[in-house]
Amino acid sequence: MSALETDKELSVYESMAARFDVAARMLNIDEGLTKYLRTPNREIVVHIPVALDSGVLEVFDGYRVQHNIARGPCKGGIRYAPNVTLDEIRGLAAEMTWKCAVANIPFGGAKGGIVCDPSKLSAGELERITRRYTAEILDYIGPERDVPAPDMNTNEQTMAWIMDTYSMHIRHTTTAVVTGKPVDLGGSQGRREATGRGCMIATDQALKRFGRKRDETRVIIQGCGNVGGQAARLMHEAGYKVIGVADMFGGILNAHGLDVPALLMHVTQTKSVKGFAGGESIGNLEILEQDCDVLLPAATESVITSKNAHRIKARILTEGANSPTSPPADDILFQRGVFVIPDILANGGGVTVSYFEWVQDRQGYFWPEALVNERLEHIMVDAFDGVVRYGEKHRVNNRIAAYMLAIDRVAFSVKLRGIYA
Ligand code: NAD
Repeated sequence: MSALETDKELSVYESMAARFDVAARMLNIDEGLTKYLRTPNREIVVHIPVALDSGVLEVFDGYRVQHNIARGPCKGGIRYAPNVTLDEIRGLAAEMTWKCAVANIPFGGAKGGIVCDPSKLSAGELERITRRYTAEILDYIGPERDVPAPDMNTNEQTMAWIMDTYSMHIRHTTTAVVTGKPVDLGGSQGRREATGRGCMIATDQALKRFGRKRDETRVIIQGCGNVGGQAARLMHEAGYKVIGVADMFGGILNAHGLDVPALLMHVTQTKSVKGFAGGESIGNLEILEQDCDVLLPAATESVITSKNAHRIKARILTEGANSPTSPPADDILFQRGVFVIPDILANGGGVTVSYFEWVQDRQGYFWPEALVNERLEHIMVDAFDGVVRYGEKHRVNNRIAAYMLAIDRVAFSVKLRGIYA
């Protein structure tokens, strides 16, 4: 793996809180409400006993943080990784509240995680961990309470296990308890591509502002998984010139444009972009600093920091990943005139189609993919316009504008509902 110094200037929660504080101050929100909106509603910590295949009993730590329910049930992914922390989950849960509010969908925010290394666990062990975790948090999830989804190292299969465990406990099949399920179990058409598609729609809107055409726009993407891989495919098909793609093992660059279908085939076969013959190899940090028009980080957090922000050459930064840019880097990018489409706007396509999945499950009536994509486009364009207009009106950058718009919406719902005592 090539070195990627993700110098974490602030943790995910600290980054969220720093941006939240600026936006709340700009909105003149009073101290009590600020404290309420900044604090998670509920933090669940569970310890999950699981018999490993070897017969050894292991105990895994799991978390579910529910940040805010003012606008509807909580919504957010569950990640499995050895370095998951409660602080990280807390920050990501709050970001989900703001993301859902930017997209103007009727959800609050949540996030969950289990401290484990999925690469060292068998499918059977993962299934047992998932089912026991679900049983431990069962009282707190449900279609009207909190609706989990996949995140890092969890997938459609994980969601199927959660749905089944929940359904067995409450004695009837309840597909709307999770989203990101297999299509045959109540999943939505278009969910797999939704985040990448949303990134492209947001980028399209930025191009319109600059009077640029897709075929004269060079794109570099960091990350070639669900978000980055789909974004590369969709943007290539739509006429963008994708000139660079990186993953955790390295990157590949071709100034004339990559043959994206061939690259994705190579990734399917070898599990990496590394070694692809249609370009020159480059480091996965170095690739961020190459000459391009659109940079789309779609891998992991804190990859653009005060250390490299002044070397970013892209005119547009579309944040496919969560928290790829640190707050100090934000200031540098803003001063340098980079048009940032912040994560809570740019990658909101995933949760938007999750919302569509939840609606379809509750109706028991499923939409064709074209309708899903059309409705996704409508929501993404509205969200983009809302954020950019808000920023122009209040003379703030897009990131702070997105936070302000979201906090304003959540605060309004809180005020309408009042504080129950
Ligand atoms: P994924 O696991 O499918 O893919 C991640 C990709 O990033 C892989 O190609 C991996 O090799 C690469 N990567 C990991 N570490 C890297 C590094 N240090 N340098 C370069 N590449 C690296 O994950 P995903 O679902 O595509 O999610 C990517 C990001 O987008 C995460 O931040 C996630 O939270 C965020 N996100 C995902 C969704 C979604 O619907 N999947 C929605 C919103 C936000």
